Amino acid sequence: MRKKIIAGNWKMHKTPAEAVQLVNELKVKVVNIHHVDMIVCPPYLAIPAVQASLKETAIRVGAQNVFWEDQGAYTGEISAPMLVNAGCSYVIIGHSERRQYFHETDETINRKIKKALEFQLKPIFCIGETLEQREAGQTFPVLKTQLDGGLAGIDAAAIQNIVIAYEPVWAIGTGRNATPEQAQEAHQFIRSTLAEKFGRPIADGLRIQYGGSVKPENAEALLSQPDVDGALVGGASLKADSFADIIQAAENLSKQ
Ligand code: PEP
Repeated sequence: MRKKIIAGNWKMHKTPAEAVQLVNELKVKVVNIHHVDMIVCPPYLAIPAVQASLKETAIRVGAQNVFWEDQGAYTGEISAPMLVNAGCSYVIIGHSERRQYFHETDETINRKIKKALEFQLKPIFCIGETLEQREAGQTFPVLKTQLDGGLAGIDAAAIQNIVIAYEPVWAIGTGRNATPEQAQEAHQFIRSTLAEKFGRPIADGLRIQYGGSVKPENAEALLSQPDVDGALVGGASLKADSFADIIQAAENLSKQ
């Protein structure tokens, strides 16, 4: 059985002091969680303080982006070895906000994924269709193109260190989540595409998170779908109570 994985994407929220306050509240709420991988992804500046606060806990730290070179004249960028040095073990790559506002492409996302893997950072690789694409019946072709481009040159060994996040763009930050059936349909398609690429046994072991307006009220229904292996959570990860409730929903399903 795939271990569920819940990650919080804090986006551009929280100073280091606010971030530490949040994880200090969170860590006491999740001490009894044993069947779920838990990750928080703060803004870069808060990563060292959050990492220090979470040292003796099961919660891992991730970043929200990474550049594809190790070092050099790339003003404003952060490298994979820098993130590892700061204590990160995961990195979100290809989030739709980065695709939309910072013009990331499948090709640059692919470079970032490869660089992250080179430094043993686990990518949380985000894909998802826009509302127009869904309404035009293009959801599956869009997902296939994003998977083909983002995973170009990734082999069967490397893919096992990648988490896929299916995040329909129309559901992110809108309060309008995909229905459990819509999520399952997309996840099943993603898994079968991965099976074509890497073989069924490997695809069956890969974890696919759903992201898009996940909250305590809808977490159980989404997470109980057979191909939904976790959640990438934005807004609801900014409060310890709601994030811990989502983690608890995953834990309860995992213990059944
Ligand atoms: C996200 O940022 O990846 C996300 C899914 O946000 P939200 O949960 O706020 O929709």
